[in-house]
Amino acid sequence: MSPKKTYERPIIKKLESNMPNKFGMRTIYEPVTHVEGHAVKDLIRDHGSPVFVISEKKIRKNYRAAKQAFETRYPKVQFAWSYKTNYLDAVCKIYHQEGSWAEVVSGFEYDKAIRNGVEGSKIIFNGPDKSEADLRKAVTNNSLIHIDHLDELYLLQDIAKNSKQRPKVAIRVNLDTGIFPMWDRFGFNYENGQAWDALNKIMFSGQMDLVGLHTHIGTFMLSAGAYAVAASKLAHLAQSVLAKYNHEIKYIDMGGGFASKNTLKGSFLPGSDISPSIDDFAEAITSALMNSDYRPKTPPLLIIESGRALIDDAAWLLGSVLANKRLSDGRRSTILDIGVNILFTAFWYDHKITPAQAFTSYTEDTALYGPLCMNIDVVRESINMPLLNKGDQVVVHHVGAYNMTQWMQFITLRPKVLLIDEYGKLHVIRNNETLSTLTDLEAVPPHLVHFEL
Ligand SMILES: *Cc1c(COP(=O)(O)O)cnc(C)c1O
Repeated sequence: MSPKKTYERPIIKKLESNMPNKFGMRTIYEPVTHVEGHAVKDLIRDHGSPVFVISEKKIRKNYRAAKQAFETRYPKVQFAWSYKTNYLDAVCKIYHQEGSWAEVVSGFEYDKAIRNGVEGSKIIFNGPDKSEADLRKAVTNNSLIHIDHLDELYLLQDIAKNSKQRPKVAIRVNLDTGIFPMWDRFGFNYENGQAWDALNKIMFSGQMDLVGLHTHIGTFMLSAGAYAVAASKLAHLAQSVLAKYNHEIKYIDMGGGFASKNTLKGSFLPGSDISPSIDDFAEAITSALMNSDYRPKTPPLLIIESGRALIDDAAWLLGSVLANKRLSDGRRSTILDIGVNILFTAFWYDHKITPAQAFTSYTEDTALYGPLCMNIDVVRESINMPLLNKGDQVVVHHVGAYNMTQWMQFITLRPKVLLIDEYGKLHVIRNNETLSTLTDLEAVPPHLVHFEL
């Protein structure tokens, strides 16, 4: 016997096809009942709600497509996985199995890469915060140290003086690519001569091996052309070093920052329509390098540190509806068990969110809130959604980048992360936190142990 149909109030609706409405493009309303062959309701029943799900197949597919985009255009390419984008061990190891080096920006990330079995010489150490101990370790391990500022350069010079090994270094260069705002807080500026000055200091010191040039021009870049400008400027620096010192730069590292297919807040068109493809970025970078005047005997290795664009669409966040209510202006609001504490990217993106079960054809402008007792806990300010009832489930798409690193333990505990392998088998790759995850780190002084109320 089929279940009794629920009453739905009649509505009159204008027919429109492929037309944006005042909320942007129309949301495609097909329920997403399965993720990589697993029923959403089973995943939530067995592993709790909310829960992150990552597809190993998708990660490998994206990676191979990106690698191919660069390798078909340029002879020597090396990817380095940006740890801060997603540094769960299982995720990093998929990239390392695919041949990716590690790109880290802190001592903690550096140690995580070593612990994951990455050879020191295949770790790129970026960022403004490298302690003396971090630098000594990186020098001993022959890692690639990308110098961010002069204080670091001087410290490294000092370390080099008393060390048997010569540090392998590059400088991070910031430059004007015509994109606003320009990122100039990291590394040395190209246009005002800081970068050239730093290169001369390194060459004159005679204590370090200048092996590369690095830039990372921004994040979620929507212009492939900006990378062409950046690559030309780095090639020009490399040629200047070659001309003055007869010294060949071994690699040019173009960083990451390629946009994923997510939709930025305030964007009228969805990211899937406007983000350049990996091929666009590859074409811009490789042709700028090859068309430059840099003429070493062997072409420099091209390093790519793409994070977001490789993993964003390889993960989903599954959750459940806690309640519905009307706001004072009559608008519908739905409260989910997914908050901005675990879906940090909700601050920047209008995430695609789909119901995980069949629904009726009536849709309404809805505010989607998280479970936190905090006004800022808004998952979507305004989304055209079918009616969701308490207990219904939803799928948030494209959550692979930055959520599983920037999530914060706030009000609720962090949930499980599951990996579906290439054969469809499910693995828990990070367990859910429990009360003791937190209390184990705490201590109560003896005089505060007892109280009476
Ligand atoms: C964050 C970061 C990346 C990765 O950036 P995406 O936007 O995730 O591609 C690469 N290199 C450096 C130096 C970074 O700081």
